[in-house]
Amino acid sequence: MRESASGFISHPLLSAAGVAHGFGTRRAAETDGPARPRQVHGAAVARLGPGGELDREQADAVLSDRPGFGVAIVTADCVPILAALGSGRAVVAIHAGWRGLAAGVVGAGIAALRAQGQSGERVVAAVGPRIGRCCYEVDAPVMDPLRSRFGSGVDAASEASRAGHWWLDLGQLVATDLGRSGVAADDLGVLDGVCTACGKERFESFRRDGAEAGRLLHYIQPAGSPPPARAQGIAGGA
Ligand SMILES: [Zn+2]
Repeated sequence: MRESASGFISHPLLSAAGVAHGFGTRRAAETDGPARPRQVHGAAVARLGPGGELDREQADAVLSDRPGFGVAIVTADCVPILAALGSGRAVVAIHAGWRGLAAGVVGAGIAALRAQGQSGERVVAAVGPRIGRCCYEVDAPVMDPLRSRFGSGVDAASEASRAGHWWLDLGQLVATDLGRSGVAADDLGVLDGVCTACGKERFESFRRDGAEAGRLLHYIQPAGSPPPARAQGIAGGA
């Protein structure tokens, strides 16, 4: 894990695949380049078309196989997942809260990515800043739909708090889903020490700040991409 001067956290697994990417922190500058869907806590996957437009407006996973055209999602406690084919030729950004997890957004996003690759091509994935078990207390209306999808995996990812409530580890459920989707343990990176609610200095959190919360932007683009226009502009102006 490395945080750049621009406030984006990268992961060596994705860097090794040759894909530009970053999990945003509060320091991260706004970037208007990557295409973003309107997120609705579902399981639909949007794909980048030839002109750089998305083939659907509402989605919680967004895929690009176009060099130079990045995709992004935003979060403020939910789990951001950035994944790429081992070759770096295609990438996907996934937004997964408890509703998206229950709906199967992780599996849908990874399946769409895998469909872009050659048979047996590996997928590398990194799980970014999200609300930790330390700060995420939920009740039965959250636990029940997750239990029907994950079974006893929900018990392993939670512990009882007060009556009818549990501390839940969304990141662990995401890791479970990525494993089920065929991402090998060696190809999966889960950032540690990145609870959005605890980490007030670094992260935005809806649970901590409510309607005042900002959003963190997480982006990824296929290998072979030119540098962002903004970086070119800085270099050109020097
Ligand atoms: Zn926390």
